Amino acid sequence: TISSTPSTRPAALLEDLDRRHVLHPHERGHRSQRRVMVRGQGSTVWDASGREFLDALGGGIWVAQVGHGRQELADAAARQISELAHFTSFFEYGTDKSALLAERLTTLAPAGMDRVFFTCSGSEAVDTALKLARLHHHHRGEPDRNWIIARHYGYHGTTYGSGTATGIPNMQVAVGPNLPHVEKVMPPYPYRPEMYGGQGTTEFLLNELSETIERLGAGNIAAMIGEPVLGGGGVIAPPADYWPRVRELLRSHGILLIADEVITGYGRIGSWFDSAPRGMDADIITTAKGLTSGYVPMGAVLMREEIAASVAGGERDFFHGHTYSGHPVAAAVALANLDIIEKESLLARSLAISEWFRTGLAGAAELPSVGDVRVEGAMAGIELVADKATREPVTDTLALAVADELYETHGVITRNYGPTLVLSPPLVFERAEAERTTSAITEVLGRLDVASGRIAPR
Ligand code: PLP
Repeated sequence: TISSTPSTRPAALLEDLDRRHVLHPHERGHRSQRRVMVRGQGSTVWDASGREFLDALGGGIWVAQVGHGRQELADAAARQISELAHFTSFFEYGTDKSALLAERLTTLAPAGMDRVFFTCSGSEAVDTALKLARLHHHHRGEPDRNWIIARHYGYHGTTYGSGTATGIPNMQVAVGPNLPHVEKVMPPYPYRPEMYGGQGTTEFLLNELSETIERLGAGNIAAMIGEPVLGGGGVIAPPADYWPRVRELLRSHGILLIADEVITGYGRIGSWFDSAPRGMDADIITTAKGLTSGYVPMGAVLMREEIAASVAGGERDFFHGHTYSGHPVAAAVALANLDIIEKESLLARSLAISEWFRTGLAGAAELPSVGDVRVEGAMAGIELVADKATREPVTDTLALAVADELYETHGVITRNYGPTLVLSPPLVFERAEAERTTSAITEVLGRLDVASGRIAPR
């Protein structure tokens, strides 16, 4: 018989149950090992065998802004469950917590973002944003504006809409027709200037975007979507003039700009939202993850009032929504989470983490296997190369082996996105934790021999 308290079950049994019965998101078919986590506190998590790990990837997936095990959030959820666990936000219904949260978000968001639509995830937020853009134009008399411009290397989720907008081709294979009318352009990738045929990066990208708009016809395009800084694409920030010039070009053609801030929102890069400082001046902002620090699932789409007014104004009804949109428990947790981010000055902490990463990774940057170190607020991408001179990337398999070695020998949780090793810890990360992470990375990469594709034993 199995005890009902997971932490007392033998780890091997849990791993076996997981292996046999759970289909994992992005499951890797060739991997049989399982990592079953049972407890967290601050930036530390424990697996079912009791082994301790340092979570340098925020719940393993760019979340956990306020760290694990916060009693305030547990209390907020418990209070709300006993008051009113759920009531719909459909039609004219709503709850006190969702109204309070919507108001709070509009005060934190860039000026003009006056309305909020709640979802349960980032993918749903992106799908909602794509629909809002098309609906907005349709109701304003431009029903042909259906095209969405997205970017290679962008990650927007895995539903059919958000998955089609995602610039990682594997996700669109063998699932039948994807969302029609989605076109991809290149993003900036300053470490790989050869992508831009000898032109300046922004120059090339603006030309490409202009040509794309001309080819599709400006009157057929609803919106462009992009992350202020590419996250899953490898933590890649654009040159300073990129977003302002893209914004200007789109606006001159009446095309909306959707900033996908699912990763960058809520303090990841030192401000509540990163799109405004990058000059995006977005019409719609999609968020999730840090909104609740992942304690309960919730996403939020922020938009200009005129967009809300055109999709649900006057006599017009809006046909879109989820059973759990504006869930009061999620909203209560989000409000308590935002309180912690404010009270503990975690926006400033994210910039401190940035400095600790920059300093701590300076030695690693010199290693033959490290092509580029990119630190943006409390996230970092370390792009690994097989040849530093030619910048040939390492295989994904080798980058995964590096992440595995960090996990096994140092108990540090990171992840590879293609050839890039990524960090995105809780914003409560302490200096010693940042140093432990960066010295573990430097140590492991010091043992990596790219010529043989091997990591020497410690
Ligand atoms: N948008 C961005 C920028 C993301 O990084 C992600 C997930 O990592 C998503 C959207 C999708 O969010 P979710 O996994 O909550 O559906």
